[in-house]
Amino acid sequence: MEKFLVGDEWRSGNGESFESINPIDGSVAATLAQASESDVDDAVRAARQALETPAWRDMKVHERGKLLHRFADLIDQNAETLAQIQTRDNGKTISESRFQSKSAADMFRYFAAVCETTESSVIPSRGNYFCFSSFEPVGVVAAIAPWNSPITLEAQKLAPALAAGNAIVLKSSEVTPCIGLQYGRLAMEAGFPPGILNVVTGFGASVGRALVAHPGVDMVTFTGGTKSGREIAKVAGERLIPCILELGGKSPNIVFDDADIEQAVTGMLFGIFSNAGQSCIAGSRILIQEGIYDAFVARLTSATRALKVGSPYDADTAVAPVSSFHHRDHIEHFVERALSQGAVALCGGSRPSGGILDKGAYVQPTLLEVTDERSSVAHEEIFGPVACVMKFQDEEDLYRIANNTAYGLACGIWTADYKKAFRAARRIKAGTVWVNTYKIAEVNVPFGGFKQSGLGRECGIEGMREYMLEKSTYLNLADGPIPWPPRAANAV
Ligand code: NAD
Repeated sequence: MEKFLVGDEWRSGNGESFESINPIDGSVAATLAQASESDVDDAVRAARQALETPAWRDMKVHERGKLLHRFADLIDQNAETLAQIQTRDNGKTISESRFQSKSAADMFRYFAAVCETTESSVIPSRGNYFCFSSFEPVGVVAAIAPWNSPITLEAQKLAPALAAGNAIVLKSSEVTPCIGLQYGRLAMEAGFPPGILNVVTGFGASVGRALVAHPGVDMVTFTGGTKSGREIAKVAGERLIPCILELGGKSPNIVFDDADIEQAVTGMLFGIFSNAGQSCIAGSRILIQEGIYDAFVARLTSATRALKVGSPYDADTAVAPVSSFHHRDHIEHFVERALSQGAVALCGGSRPSGGILDKGAYVQPTLLEVTDERSSVAHEEIFGPVACVMKFQDEEDLYRIANNTAYGLACGIWTADYKKAFRAARRIKAGTVWVNTYKIAEVNVPFGGFKQSGLGRECGIEGMREYMLEKSTYLNLADGPIPWPPRAANAV
């Protein structure tokens, strides 16, 4: 049974355990100890204590940077182990997991550099003061992560929060609980003081809730569904603590009449079917201009049919299993409901079968033609290899359809006309816009959502500032007592 990390102690909790199930074949990937409420309490206390120790509190930024570099080197050295664990936990193709190990190491290196950029301003004073602002860590950060890409999504929280000088209690998803434990191990090996990174395992309803509500937590950083995010935001609001929320999406991927068709087709496939559609930024609404609609749909449908659904270990697999059997059932239910509401399956729509496909949580890549933009499939996040295909007439029609969702995470625009692309990029409400490309997320570029896709930003320099508080300091330059109480000018 895998233990969780509190301070420098690997714990078994009070004996309760849970399993991570391998979605490739239904076998048990790992059995894990479940943290209790009192373990969560201890983890927050360990973080607080570590934060207050001079070894961390007074550490110079460049020394913190060195620790982050060591963490990055250890990720590189353990890249294959991390990749194998992630793929076993959530079924992602092994090539994508390997790529993510590399990206995670890069995130630590980037924030090791950003660490030394917390320069602040000297503010011209309106009185006789020397006035400056400076940045301090927020304190104890609760980091809560989803299951779709724990290697990168957890690193995206740990690296900036550590660079900013905080202490962390990480709770990974119960579906993919193992990467966080590896990160806990690597943090200790890198030489972070015990308690700076604690990792508790268990379910959102118990461990996650206890963590967010803990009075010793100073900030929450959450990536996950909008429903959970709203619940967490309520607790954080009640406690008046800052909260980063990276939530769901239903992003439009738009093809104008003048687009490079082959480039756009690949962009659509990659946008929705990579990682079996389990990406917050998946291009799950494919919007095609009417002049090319029929030809484009025919080309896209045949390209989708040609995608190989199979084992994440096969080099030519395009669509591997989804993360769990439970999630497969959820996706299938969505598709059935969409079909019953009038959507037409251009391809997919049923469970794939034969050989390995019978054992795992596989979903056929599915394109649903939707004519009624008000139907639920056009609005709700499915988080699987399922896209809605819709038609638009002109730009005004496009903006109406594209913005007709509660989400605002990302958007893809495919056109040869960059003036048009620029207009569309400004009119569509989304945190990230790609023109003639899709799903690019670079660590030095801020990332986050508009509308119900979230609050706050990860990545970029601002991504570290989110984990800091700004302090203003006034130094009095005048001699003598402060002129108070005030005296009348002609008083003797
Ligand atoms: P989820 O919201 O069910 O769970 C996410 C994490 O929160 C898990 O660790 C879970 O245990 C925990 N949790 C759930 N309820 C909680 C509560 N009340 N208090 C504290 N913790 C709680 O999401 P998921 O199913 O794991 O992930 C899929 C979702 O994540 C999708 O909606 C997807 O769009 C979103 N996501 C967003 C981004 C982004 O950057 N915007 C990235 C990846 C995934």
